[in-house]
Amino acid sequence: MMLSAKFFSPFFIIICIPFFASSQATLRLSQPSRDQSNVSTAKQFIAGRTCAGCTVKINSDTVHVYTTGTFAAKYELSAGRNAFTVTTTAPNGETSTKNIVFYFSTPPAPSATSIFRIDYMEISPSGNLQLMEGDTLRIKMKGYPGESASWFNDVPLKELPTSQTGGVPGIYSGSYILQAKDSLLNGKIIGRLRKRSGETAILGSTYRYSMMRNEIPLTGRTIDNMTYLTASPHGDRLGPDKIGYLDKDVLLHIVGRQGDYYKVKLSSRTTAFIPEPLVDTEIPQEQLPVSIADDAKIWGDEKYDYVSVALSDKLPYTSTQLVSSKKIIVDIHGAYAEKGLNTVLQNTKEITSVGWGQPTPDVCRMVISLQHAPWGYQVYYENNRIVVKVKRPPQTPSLRNMVIGLDAGHGGSNPGATGLTGAVEKNLTLVLSLQLKALLEREGATVIMTRTTEKFVANEDRLSLFRRTNPDLLLSIHLNSSANPVDAYGTATYYKQPFCEPLNAAIHERLLQTGLYDFGNNAGFNFILNNPTEFPDALVETLFLSNPGDEEKILDPAFQRQVVTAIVEGMKDYLKEAVKSR
Ligand SMILES: [Zn+2]
Repeated sequence: MMLSAKFFSPFFIIICIPFFASSQATLRLSQPSRDQSNVSTAKQFIAGRTCAGCTVKINSDTVHVYTTGTFAAKYELSAGRNAFTVTTTAPNGETSTKNIVFYFSTPPAPSATSIFRIDYMEISPSGNLQLMEGDTLRIKMKGYPGESASWFNDVPLKELPTSQTGGVPGIYSGSYILQAKDSLLNGKIIGRLRKRSGETAILGSTYRYSMMRNEIPLTGRTIDNMTYLTASPHGDRLGPDKIGYLDKDVLLHIVGRQGDYYKVKLSSRTTAFIPEPLVDTEIPQEQLPVSIADDAKIWGDEKYDYVSVALSDKLPYTSTQLVSSKKIIVDIHGAYAEKGLNTVLQNTKEITSVGWGQPTPDVCRMVISLQHAPWGYQVYYENNRIVVKVKRPPQTPSLRNMVIGLDAGHGGSNPGATGLTGAVEKNLTLVLSLQLKALLEREGATVIMTRTTEKFVANEDRLSLFRRTNPDLLLSIHLNSSANPVDAYGTATYYKQPFCEPLNAAIHERLLQTGLYDFGNNAGFNFILNNPTEFPDALVETLFLSNPGDEEKILDPAFQRQVVTAIVEGMKDYLKEAVKSR
């Protein structure tokens, strides 16, 4: 009984929202947020909520009102003042009106700098940085056209032809490779513009730069197994794009600093970034080891198959998968594979062969071929032996006895998206996840959830829960959102690891059968729960809460059941394919 009370309380609040809307001619706009606004784009929206059963007119156009009482319309503004009158009429004839004005002006087209000066410069990489000899800096600078521009050591910059600058003259660009003797004493990079008469204009960089001069490389070690490497310190709204997670105590060669990140050299041709707090530099500083990989083992026990290689230290690694050719690829950075490295299999059930390669002079590559498309694997260290533990897919395509990780997105102080009715994503993800849990348990699965109540759970804690409990499959349930309430709608799945594509495709396919529009099965997504390689995962963005049509659907309990059923059917479809050794 307790369970059903928990189950129904968020559910109750959500489906009731439309019925709270009175039959009076109420009118509440979500977009625009003010009655009068200055805008610089022509495409604008008028969206909001009235009573269920009311009609809405914007100027003389009748706008569709959903059963939830919401409406949304898109307009192309003309330059200047654009006035709209939104009128809602209740069944009893009562009306309510709001007047909206957009003042639309396009920003002035960029024009040539008309006086002798530098307007701005953009240096990449940007940020307050510590740089090393060999780092490349690029500059783009806008100033008075037709003069000679330079930066470091009077290295000239080239004025770009106007065909490359959208018609604007005076854009100068160039690149520079830092030399050991270069000084950045005052911390600023200076751009110069010089007239033939000798007159000079200068501008200093916004950010500060300094040189890292280390005779021996600075080394550090990862503090725990939640440590990740990123391709760049600049992320999107989901944080920096992660290359992969490393085990605890992995030795890293630090070659720079950018903001709160260390730049680390993985191998002669690869660098990455790692958040400073995740690296322990209070370790004995040593020359980096050169590791000859000459002792490899490939074996299976009752549950897993393994590949391991002895190294002289815990070196960084990266991995990926080839799904159609059923391979896992692990690169060990800073290691050399000895010719004739062991390829003998002992009792493996999933691994069919292991190949050893050397894609660059200091990267040792293992190519692990499997019976099936990859089902998950973990890379870790046992002393200085790197171990790849390969999961075997289940023997039958059944959810019975399977452990499913289930993440109800958002919660507590992290509400997620809000629909035009006021429905909140965190409540709907919980409603859907609890229904999913019930359905999966009816199939005989065990379900591990990040939350079963309305509460805050940090994303790092969600990841750490699943890396600890190691489910067979992981789903994260969300609702999508866009600033465009009219054109963005439909169902989508998102993944990052290539081997997760089939699970996502199968769930997406079933969700399309509910009649939702196709918003895609999307690769390369940077969500934290898309990172693990230990199990197949899918981020399910069921539909767009920001779209009134999609919102109307998901507030309908019958449609919620269809969505949940489609997800479970998709999982079963995936399992059927995954157990086949094609
Ligand atoms: Zn979300």
